[in-house]
Amino acid sequence: MNLRRISGRFSSSGCSLPLVSFLLSCAFLPSVAAQSCGSQGIAAQVLGSGGPELQDKRASSSYLVWENGQARALIDVGGGSALRFGESGAQMSQLDVILFTHFHVDHSGDFAALIKSSWFEDRKRALPIYGPAGNDFMPSTTEFVSDLFGEKRGAYRYLSELLVPGEESSYKMQPHNVVANSTPVAVFHSGDLYVYAVRVVHGQVPALAWRVQVGNRNVVFSGDTNGQDGGLVQLAMNADLFIAHNAVPEGAVGIERRLHMPPSVIGQIAEDAHVRSLVLSHRMLRTLGKEDLTQSEIKKRYSGPAAFANDLDCFPVR
Ligand SMILES: [Zn+2]
Repeated sequence: MNLRRISGRFSSSGCSLPLVSFLLSCAFLPSVAAQSCGSQGIAAQVLGSGGPELQDKRASSSYLVWENGQARALIDVGGGSALRFGESGAQMSQLDVILFTHFHVDHSGDFAALIKSSWFEDRKRALPIYGPAGNDFMPSTTEFVSDLFGEKRGAYRYLSELLVPGEESSYKMQPHNVVANSTPVAVFHSGDLYVYAVRVVHGQVPALAWRVQVGNRNVVFSGDTNGQDGGLVQLAMNADLFIAHNAVPEGAVGIERRLHMPPSVIGQIAEDAHVRSLVLSHRMLRTLGKEDLTQSEIKKRYSGPAAFANDLDCFPVR
């Protein structure tokens, strides 16, 4: 797929400001009016800006893409994010699609809570759910959903009507496994919403990065990855907003580095992909408090605007 075709109209904003104004460069700040995120135009909202540790006092990974007051795409549902979903004003009945980057707990732990909440809403159309295929170590997306909601062995089989054909319910979940490689692949579209994925490297865990296009705006979600493999650069090419995971500090080694990308790698990918703006999320105890070092490593490679995410931050995509 030629991403230039879908995003070639975008070019770099050309922001290039000194380090001291890094966070404020190009007026790139989240909206404080989280309750009205995306009420006009397109916006990405951070539901969870943390990693797995509860002591970071952040919900785990989760994001919404809004368009004109409708929450259209939900990317990951880590622990704590179901509460943030409610606080954001979103409703499950609004969603066109749910996308999983992978099935670590900090990306999927609140999924059942959202589905249960949806039971009280008036959703009448199918709910497509996309995520990675499985391996011996992790379930596929269809396995993950059926392990929770399957009628015979699902942990929450009392809600199987929302999954199993033939049972009476207002809507059905429709889980799909995405077999991706390092070339972006078109996965889903509904109206003016288009979704693309690439495989990313996250240890032995099958993992995807996602690109969500609404109209002519594009938001790319790295998910968890060590940044190896060139697919993420292709996926993020000319994106308006690139949300990358700041899970390890510069200089990380060993298992931390094998699973996650340090700031220098994030900055290089943002630069190589010519993204218009960068948001750093999935902040953890090992990166919180090191923002100055993170900023400086990114700034050496990427000259565009960047910001550190907090829960419920809203980033309009203009
Ligand atoms: Zn994670």
